[in-house]
Amino acid sequence: MLDLSVLDEYAKQFHGMQRNDARSIEQSIQSIRERWILTRFLDGFLTSISPFDTIVVLPTVESIDVETLELCKEGIERYFIEPTGLQLGVEIQGVDTDYAKEFENLKIQTEEGTKTFEYNLFGRFRVKPFKSTLIFVDDSEFFREASKRVTGLTDVGSDAITVLARAHKKGRIKDGKYIDMTEKEKREYMRLVAAHEIRHAMGFLEDINNVWSHQKMGYPDVPSCLGYSKFQIPSALCEGCRDSIISLWYGIQLRTGKEYITQDTS
Ligand SMILES: [Zn+2]
Ligand SMILES: [Zn+2]
Repeated sequence: MLDLSVLDEYAKQFHGMQRNDARSIEQSIQSIRERWILTRFLDGFLTSISPFDTIVVLPTVESIDVETLELCKEGIERYFIEPTGLQLGVEIQGVDTDYAKEFENLKIQTEEGTKTFEYNLFGRFRVKPFKSTLIFVDDSEFFREASKRVTGLTDVGSDAITVLARAHKKGRIKDGKYIDMTEKEKREYMRLVAAHEIRHAMGFLEDINNVWSHQKMGYPDVPSCLGYSKFQIPSALCEGCRDSIISLWYGIQLRTGKEYITQDTS
């Protein structure tokens, strides 16, 4: 359990300091976990990042099922908001037609779904001066053809996320084929895809893999953590990822005075 009073002490110690000047103090901390939690806290406390406090689930076309949108919302609430205690809202909205048209044009202008372009479509081209974090739920032919495996993509700390409705409709893809899943498992997979992507966007955390592990945070590895790009079903936020998120947002809270963490997170 993360002790917030430790973070309160950090706030006193580092108040008014430049982010870069704090690094030598960080580096002198022996415990990997303590150092990581401090790093996360200072990233929130001493930098200018100010994420939105509302997440909007936005279908890109009318044909996306309401149930798919609801599963995304449920997944974010159940697997990201509840375990961290963050005061964030999740709303479902209708198709933004102007935006959908603009996005279709971008796709038409492309001859081939190259890897780079596909990536850009998923993430970068979505980036606009938004007023909330947007989770686009897409179901276009482009993604069906162009990507063999991916069902969601997000840049860490981005305000725009893409998830594909096929996670709910068809389930998980392995080696270019959909694996056998029950309807219940597909629904859970859709929830987890949305929560996994929100962990990137609002948790400011990379995928857990060989390069970027829980050990690097000073926490034990948890194979059922939803931070893995090929997360298991079921899975959930592990303690390390949860503490990382709380520490960052508590830093943002103490800097901005906006209350994000109100409940006892034990
Ligand atoms: Zn990921
Ligand atoms: Zn984790």
